[in-house]
Amino acid sequence: MMKLLLIPLILLYFSAFSQGDYKSFVNDKDNEYYQSQSFYPVKDFNIEAICKGTKAKNVILFIGDGMGTSQVYAALTANGGSLYMTSLKFSGFSKTNSGSDYVTDSGAGGTAIACGKKTYNYAIGVDMDTVPMVSILELAEKKGLSTGMVATAAITHATPASFMAHNRDRNNYEEIALDFLKTDIDIFIGGGRDHFASRKDKRNLLDELAKKGYQVCDSLNTSISKDKVAVFTASGHNPEAKYRKNMLPIATQKAIDLLSKNKNGFFLMVEGSQIDWGGHDNDLPQVIEETLDMDKALAVALEFAEKNGETLIIVTADHECGGLSLKNGSLEKGIVVAEFSTLDHTSVMVPVFAIGPGAEKFTGVYENTSIFDKMKVALGL
Ligand code: MG
Ligand code: ZN
Repeated sequence: MMKLLLIPLILLYFSAFSQGDYKSFVNDKDNEYYQSQSFYPVKDFNIEAICKGTKAKNVILFIGDGMGTSQVYAALTANGGSLYMTSLKFSGFSKTNSGSDYVTDSGAGGTAIACGKKTYNYAIGVDMDTVPMVSILELAEKKGLSTGMVATAAITHATPASFMAHNRDRNNYEEIALDFLKTDIDIFIGGGRDHFASRKDKRNLLDELAKKGYQVCDSLNTSISKDKVAVFTASGHNPEAKYRKNMLPIATQKAIDLLSKNKNGFFLMVEGSQIDWGGHDNDLPQVIEETLDMDKALAVALEFAEKNGETLIIVTADHECGGLSLKNGSLEKGIVVAEFSTLDHTSVMVPVFAIGPGAEKFTGVYENTSIFDKMKVALGL
C-alpha cells in the first residue's frame, strides 16, 4: 500500500520540477539565465561528400576562445538542441595545461595549437626559452598553400598572434603587428587597426601593407580586388556578437572565397574570440551568443567543404573560461540556467570536433600540442 502511494508522489515531485519556473533558479542574476528568442535550423550536410577526398588539401581551424563543453552545451540548449559543431562526426578532448601553469592563458594555449609545443603563459609563438617556433600557418605558407586568419578580437590579440607572430609577451601588440609584415599571409580580417596605424614609433603599417601589395580596407562590404587582403573591422576589438551582426560568418566566407583559388590548398584559422570575454565577465548571454555566432561561421565552412571534398574542419578551444556549470534548462524552450565558478580560465579539457579527410585522427584524449601534429600530417607539411 505504501509503495502504491509513493510512486505517484515521486512522479508528482519530478513533474513539478521538470515543468517548474526556470526563473526560480536564477538567483536574481540575469547574467546567469538565458532564454532564446528564436532557433536557427541546423542543416544536414552530406558527410560522405565532405569526407570524399583521400587527403586534406585545406584545413579550416575554428578556435572558440574559452569554449569548454559547458559553453557548447549551453549554446546547443539555447538553439533548441542542435548545433553545427556537435554534428561533426569525430570528436575528442584536448588537454590545455601550459608549459608553466596548470591553467593556461590564450597565448600559451594558442601557441600550443599553432606551433605544437607547450610554452609559458603569455608567450606568443615562442618556446619556454623565448625562442621563436614555426607555426602551422607559416609551414603552410612555405609549402605554397594560401593562408588566412579571421578573428572577432583585434587580429594582434593572443590567439591569432600565436599563428603569425613571435613575441615573449602577448601584450606587445605593436611589435606583434610588425610581424604581420614579415609574412605572406594572404588574408586577415579582424579588429586592431590602431596597432597598425596609431603607433608609438609613428610608422603607418597600413601604408606598408599596401606597399607590400595588400588591399587594405576597413569594411567587409568592400569588394576584394587583390590577391592579398587586410580588413580591419575595428580600431580595437570588434563589438560583441549582437552588435557586430554577422561579421564572423561573412568574414569566414570572404576568406574561403579568396583562399580557395589556390590549387595547392589553404590553411585558415577562424576565432570566436569573445566567448572567453563572456566567461571572464560571467555573462551567460554573451557566452551563448558568441558560441552561436562561431557555429554560424562553421556552417559557412561546411557549405564549402561539402562542395570541395578535400577540406578538414576542426573546431576546438584553447581553454575553458568561467568554470561554467549548467544547473537547469529546457531544450524545447531554449532556456539555460547556469552558474560560473570563477572569473578566470580553468584547466578542464576542451572538446575537439572534426570532419573531413583525416578527421578520424582527432578522436581520443590528447595534449593541445597534438592538434598541431595532426594538422601537419593531414596537410602533408
Ligand atoms: Mg583569443
Ligand atoms: Zn581569457
